[in-house]
Amino acid sequence: MIPDSVRELVFLRSGRLAWRERAAPRPAEPGDAVVRPFLAGRCDGDTLPIHRPVSWALQAGMALGLVDPIVAAICGKIPFQGPFPIGHECVAEVVAVGSGVRQVRIGQTVVVPWAVSCGTCPRCLAGLTSKCATTTRATLAAYGFGPASGPWGGMVTDLIRVPHADHMLVPVPDGVPPLRVAAASDNLADAWRTVVPPLARREGAKVLILGGGAKSIGLYAAGLAVAHGAATVHYLDDAPGRRQLA
Ligand SMILES: [Zn+2]
Ligand SMILES: [Zn+2]
Repeated sequence: MIPDSVRELVFLRSGRLAWRERAAPRPAEPGDAVVRPFLAGRCDGDTLPIHRPVSWALQAGMALGLVDPIVAAICGKIPFQGPFPIGHECVAEVVAVGSGVRQVRIGQTVVVPWAVSCGTCPRCLAGLTSKCATTTRATLAAYGFGPASGPWGGMVTDLIRVPHADHMLVPVPDGVPPLRVAAASDNLADAWRTVVPPLARREGAKVLILGGGAKSIGLYAAGLAVAHGAATVHYLDDAPGRRQLA
């Protein structure tokens, strides 16, 4: 049952978030699903605009070539300028599917990846889903980064539309508490790729984590490094609370 309207969390400007009403999404294409996020993670990247006005600094940095061009490829030439719906990590319940969806079923608990991809183009098949040839244009297609990244909205909301649902949605395995994978859309996967594949190549290696910049990614990486057999894990951070957690 899809209501007429939903609430979504909108970034207005640094230090200011607000709830906004909008029309509820429905499956628009046969491959779409509509899902209800019930857990949302705060990406380390979200803290950038939320806590300080970074848009002008990033625009100046890009003009001078001091900022990685990947920022413009994600957010457009004017990054983090409100208002836009924020949030791109969630675990959700599937509430509706289009006529062409085969593997995802209503009621299922799923992780929604932050970048939108089709799963069938050559780049997706090569594993480069954030460079999907179908969904990306000048900028990457994604949730939670504003209109330059497409019409997908943010994930801190009652309902979102997910295209290519059979490919995009990742069912949470039975027995895994959804809260444990709240960041799997982005930061948990980022932490995984920093330590797990390198440890698979160099079994029992030592791992050094410089924490505090990407706050949650560093902590997830520490846990993953221990779980995947690192001989020693050194964790550096200026915050005693995060050191304790690590
Ligand atoms: Zn992120
Ligand atoms: Zn693709």
